[in-house]
Amino acid sequence: MAVQLFIPTFEVEECLAEIRECLEKGWTGLGFKTVQLEDAWKKYTGLPHAHFLNSATVGLQLAVQVLKEEYKWNDGDEIISTPLTFVSTNHAIVYEGMKVIFADVDQYLCLDPVEVEKKITDKTRAVMFVGLGGNCGQYQKIVKLCKKHNLKLILDAAHMAGTRLNGEIPGAEADVVVYSFQAVKNLPTADSGMICFKEEAFDAIVRKKAWLGINKDTYARSNDKGAYKWKYDVEYVGYKHHGNSIVASIGLVQLKYLERDNAYRRQLAVWYDQAFLGHEAKVKAIPVAPGCESSRHLYQIEVNNRDEMILALNESEIYPGVHYVDNTEYKMYAYAAGTCANSERMSNRIISLPMHMRLTKEDVDTVAAAVLKYAK
Ligand SMILES: *Cc1c(COP(=O)(O)O)cnc(C)c1O
Repeated sequence: MAVQLFIPTFEVEECLAEIRECLEKGWTGLGFKTVQLEDAWKKYTGLPHAHFLNSATVGLQLAVQVLKEEYKWNDGDEIISTPLTFVSTNHAIVYEGMKVIFADVDQYLCLDPVEVEKKITDKTRAVMFVGLGGNCGQYQKIVKLCKKHNLKLILDAAHMAGTRLNGEIPGAEADVVVYSFQAVKNLPTADSGMICFKEEAFDAIVRKKAWLGINKDTYARSNDKGAYKWKYDVEYVGYKHHGNSIVASIGLVQLKYLERDNAYRRQLAVWYDQAFLGHEAKVKAIPVAPGCESSRHLYQIEVNNRDEMILALNESEIYPGVHYVDNTEYKMYAYAAGTCANSERMSNRIISLPMHMRLTKEDVDTVAAAVLKYAK
């Protein structure tokens, strides 16, 4: 049977029961389950604020927008980011009229603090850090660097739901953390995300911006007593970016199983590691940073014959992925082509092996044997 890269797996009956509650109550939109999920997420992560959105992409955009407006950054000011990421990360910067300055990655495929420091100019305002595959990379050094240079820190934690660093969920140090609950991420819904600002005032702003700029959400209004509950002000030209209760229902159920699911992902990673032990010259697993308990969104290896290997695996009905192609190879970001040597090199050498809840030890052994067979 074919082995796929990702297959979302849901606790179907429990999800349906939560959704049923919404349908029976007649409340499917903003409020109700979205508030429950925000509270559950704050409790789980320990982060002080959380607002549920319909994707992480809009979360990243709002993160940049709010920081830019509140700190009075100018168009053309710079945010340092990674070339090895999903384009959402970097598009978020461009949407807001700022410039993406690419810095190179380290052995964990995350931003290298030494490379980041080299790219700092008097126009640099923030660093966008991606915990690739659930890895923490050198996150703590990035935090220190941001403090030293008075830069804001945006954590794209799309892969990091459940990642711990020295026993704790990282993110409290960042100005804003954005999670993705898109279907193939570790906490699967259909499409949604969570934005977690450190500042209470910014959390209040993002709640308005994600709901057309309205200063009081419908749920709060419907709970108001008195004659003026239809009255609200509009403070921003906001967006329709908030999440809804149907999707939040799925999130509430899947959050209950996130630790169990991530533990199984780490088990799959251990099985892959064992299979590749002693073959480092041909197949090298991307290491997890010291102190990091990765969510294991990805299991990535580095090989000498990547493109050939993917074709060979596909012929064996194994469908791996690549996370990611160096973004400076894309037309949009080609102005920075050739500026990040390690990213460029790794972009041509990495493969993400199948990683999801339906894989068995036998599947892992089959995939690993095929990889070892084709590796040069
Ligand atoms: C998936 C992903 C996003 C975007 O998440 P959506 O919820 O699909 O918008 C952003 N950054 C990274 C690194 C991702 O993998």
